[in-house]
Amino acid sequence: MKSANISHNRGTYHGDIPRQPMRFVWHMAKQYGRYGALAFGAVTCATVAGASAPYLYGKIVDAAVMGSATRVFDFVGAFLAITALSFIMWRLSGYFGMKFTLNVERTAYLTLFQYLSHHSQTYFNEKFAGSLANKVSNGADGSERMLEALLWNYYGIVLNIIITCGYLAVVDARLSIFFLVAVIALFGINYALVQRLIPLVVAYSDASSRFRGFAVDVLTNISAVKSYVRMSHEHTVLKRKADERFDANVAEWRYGEYVLVLNNIIVLIVQGILFGGSAYLWSMGHISAGVFVMLLTVFYRVQGDLVFMGNNIRSFIRVYGTIDEGLSEILIDHALVDAPNARPLRMGRGEIAWKDVTFTYGGQPVFQDFNVVIPAGQRLGLVGQSGAGKTTFVSLLLRQVDIQKGGITIDGQDISGATQESLRNNIAIVPQEPILFHRSIRENIAYGKPDATDEEIIEVAKRAEAHTFIMQLTQGYDTLVGERGIKLSGGQKQRIAIARAMLKNAPILILDEATSALDSESEVAIQKALHELMEGKTVIAIAHRLSTLREMHRIVVLEQGNIVEDGTHDTLVRHKGTYARLWKHQAGGFLIE
Ligand code: ADP
Ligand code: MG
Repeated sequence: MKSANISHNRGTYHGDIPRQPMRFVWHMAKQYGRYGALAFGAVTCATVAGASAPYLYGKIVDAAVMGSATRVFDFVGAFLAITALSFIMWRLSGYFGMKFTLNVERTAYLTLFQYLSHHSQTYFNEKFAGSLANKVSNGADGSERMLEALLWNYYGIVLNIIITCGYLAVVDARLSIFFLVAVIALFGINYALVQRLIPLVVAYSDASSRFRGFAVDVLTNISAVKSYVRMSHEHTVLKRKADERFDANVAEWRYGEYVLVLNNIIVLIVQGILFGGSAYLWSMGHISAGVFVMLLTVFYRVQGDLVFMGNNIRSFIRVYGTIDEGLSEILIDHALVDAPNARPLRMGRGEIAWKDVTFTYGGQPVFQDFNVVIPAGQRLGLVGQSGAGKTTFVSLLLRQVDIQKGGITIDGQDISGATQESLRNNIAIVPQEPILFHRSIRENIAYGKPDATDEEIIEVAKRAEAHTFIMQLTQGYDTLVGERGIKLSGGQKQRIAIARAMLKNAPILILDEATSALDSESEVAIQKALHELMEGKTVIAIAHRLSTLREMHRIVVLEQGNIVEDGTHDTLVRHKGTYARLWKHQAGGFLIE
């Protein structure tokens, strides 16, 4: 069987993945069609073999009535053989069904993850990573559960109902028609009743997640709860939420019990009519005692399926909803795709130019006819109050969002016509909050250059003033940094991020300085590291540190998306404008925004 059919194309992924749950499941399932066919085939054989039991019971009774011991033994033997066959078939269905559903789960997960990962940065900024991981699981686990239920539950039920109709038809067509009509009516009634159950299910799951959310929140903030002596208050609220959840659960369950009672009554009536009819046929001498027993057994076999029809419909709707929840969030169109004829950037030394750029965030303009040219090799410091547009400036340059008008070029080529991959390959970023994977320090530094040698890694770590502290860690470069780098101090994380950017060695460097002060020792080390990193690059720095600003060739002051001041540090300080004012009011080596 071929492995997961996943395209490993780089750049933008244009999937033809269906968004409708059943079509999605089918799309995944057909890639493992052979396992699927074998699994369904095995279930068919097992069910049909098992369904021969009533026929054999009938034969055994008839033989017993006739007093023929040999025939009784023959049929008992046949019964055991058929049972053995059906067991074997069930286990084969287990084997093929396992291959089928688990492969689908894996492929669905990887496909959804891949599609998801090609969404724009804006998409991710608006979602929580944790909840996105849940959506992927919803889509993948849901597909697996859907196929499991189809294979081992719904399909068998349908097959058994058809077989029952067949048995009844052989004896008397009227019984068969009556049974079929009864089953369809039962389905209709249950389907209608389940529609009213759904709001109750939703209410319960809401109450349940509110309850759990509250409990987690209290535990997360337990130190505040203790220090403010609010424990008994929290317990009271938790008790109330537990009661709400309890009530919602009872409401849902009680309704389910009503449906079951109704089904019990209907099934009992249907059974009464079928048994009564069979007894009548026997009493009139139309059928033998054996056939009578056969009819009783046939119906007995499907009785449970009929009573629990409502529960099956409900679990189908639930799984369907789970898959839908996952797909509807993930399989929306990619907002940012490469142009059809996108080409890789041909990098020169990294000259950046903005020409008449207009960009609005949902109607609110951030930049209007914005122009700026940053010559290759220039170090530009962006300064401005919070909300001035500094972060937006950087994300437009990285093409995390598209501008509405104008153009941004790098070495004369419009970035909207370049592949996103080539654009980002040529820009290194040191973000405000360094992003570290829960992997070794070595892997974290080499992230932008996976084939880097140990010598290269150590060299950049030295230049980034990180080598010394790394060597003091218990496992040196092999130390795992902990989730999001929790084991390292802020300044250490910064220096790892700087080393990573150094190793990437892109012609353009973006620096988003942390606004919070570090201890003075880190401060000096970081300054040295940045100095090394900026060497020979076109730099755009959202700078707060005076020491960084001093290193800039040019300072641009932004105010509501406009350049209000533009010049060297010295000229702007003399100019006595916004920059001079910020400079005067700086504290602890930082500009105050
Ligand atoms: P700075 O980084 O200088 O503080 P930003 O670039 O973050 O400024 O913000 C510029 C303007 O854009 C602000 O008015 C801000 O409210 C707005 N803005 C930023 N991000 C978004 C967003 N995701 N959606 C809507 N408006 C935004
Ligand atoms: Mg910002």
